[in-house]
Amino acid sequence: MEQTVVDGVPVYWAEGPAPMTATLAFGVGTRDESFRTIGVTHLIEHLAMSALPRVHYEHNASVELETTQFFATGKPAQLVEFLDVVCRALADLPLDRVEKEAGVLAAEGSQVTHPTAAALLARRFGTSGYGLAPWAGPGYDRIPAEAVAAHARRYFTKGNAVLTLTGPPPEGLRLALPDGERPARVAQEPLPADGPRWSAENVPCPGLSLTGPSASAPWNIAMLVLQERLTTTARREKGISYDVGGERADVSPETTERLIWLDAREGREAEVAEILWNTAQRLADDGPDQEEVDHELAAFAELIDDPRLVVARLDLRARAELLGGPYYTDEDWLVELKAVTPEQVAAVMAEGLRTALLVVPEGVALDLSDRDGAPVAVGGCARVIGPEPDGRVLRPPLAARVLNGAARRVRLILGTDGVTLRDDDGDLHTIRFADVVGVEVQDGARTVFGRHGCVIPVDPDLFRGAEAAVAALDAAVDPALRYRTSDLVSRDE
Ligand SMILES: [Zn+2]
Repeated sequence: MEQTVVDGVPVYWAEGPAPMTATLAFGVGTRDESFRTIGVTHLIEHLAMSALPRVHYEHNASVELETTQFFATGKPAQLVEFLDVVCRALADLPLDRVEKEAGVLAAEGSQVTHPTAAALLARRFGTSGYGLAPWAGPGYDRIPAEAVAAHARRYFTKGNAVLTLTGPPPEGLRLALPDGERPARVAQEPLPADGPRWSAENVPCPGLSLTGPSASAPWNIAMLVLQERLTTTARREKGISYDVGGERADVSPETTERLIWLDAREGREAEVAEILWNTAQRLADDGPDQEEVDHELAAFAELIDDPRLVVARLDLRARAELLGGPYYTDEDWLVELKAVTPEQVAAVMAEGLRTALLVVPEGVALDLSDRDGAPVAVGGCARVIGPEPDGRVLRPPLAARVLNGAARRVRLILGTDGVTLRDDDGDLHTIRFADVVGVEVQDGARTVFGRHGCVIPVDPDLFRGAEAAVAALDAAVDPALRYRTSDLVSRDE
């Protein structure tokens, strides 16, 4: 792999199959957004791509959790043109196109990761950073133009970019990005948790999330063996699942969240979730067989022999540079993998299971035990279990209470420092005013979004006397967090 610098941007290149691919990557992704600005990175990506004339070479862009990429494959002169147009557009965003691109993005409806992985990240981190993954937020048309410009200025700079090429830098290559530093980051803290939790969420299939160290060969083998065992049991033996998927969130150079999910045939979700949980526990108890470890080693050795791997290898190099993690050559990583023992794999899985989060689709109930035989507690957004907090109790209008059993149980409690919803299951959802991440305004009503994932309607039509709660909320919460309902999405979506 060769290295150079063009216009202050690090460039890595290695010969790959023709035609050449150029990838301009930035160290910014959805984790760098806030609830109020969800989608801003994707909006900037679209604004930059909209500056391209109609071209005939392959090109695209993507926004992920930690990185954003612009890439093209073609003749050297075409790549020079592509990079020049994208860089100039990022330096001087066509903000007059925001409205049009907002509509395109809403129609596109893309997701940054699998919905099960997204829900797990939200349970781990709450409604900020990585935890924003499953949320739509206020909508692309509600992101203030100055927030778009500020996000671009902070993240789409020379100091936060890396270019990779599958051939030598072409003649005339320029990267006219604005000056700027790589942003300093503090690793996002997870929400407090003690021990494993499961919860029913708006997800299509069961999934599991484990916290562990970033660059770890035993962890790498552990997740591969887990995936292999799940495929064997759920797919080949029982035929109740087809696909096992995985994702990682590199929270810091030291810490990574590893996520795994598997689809489930309708009605078999609980069984699939139990297989997932029990398979992970068995791996922690007994470790893999040496054969299983050898199988993963052989698979890796075969993979690195594939000449098409050059793009993936360059991506990893760019990622290490942008996120500050270590970069291993294939040979170095093979040495690490070869040193892994079954006991190490069992140990990391046992450690990881202490941090486990498990999600299942809504309506599915689980009865699980951890490795000590203790029941796995139910997690979820409800943060307060116990007596209702002090405050003014608001109930649904009398007519609703007469007609509807659920309405007899729900209430809204306006406290001095926040609001609490008692839902029709009796769970208490509290959002302190200091923990509000967004307030959607619908005339005289508000929908409040909290840091732990609770959503509370503060609506005089639903709760008699809620006007007082609306007034208290408006007085206590930063007005910049308020926004009118998007014109692009219906609220039921
Ligand atoms: Zn809640």
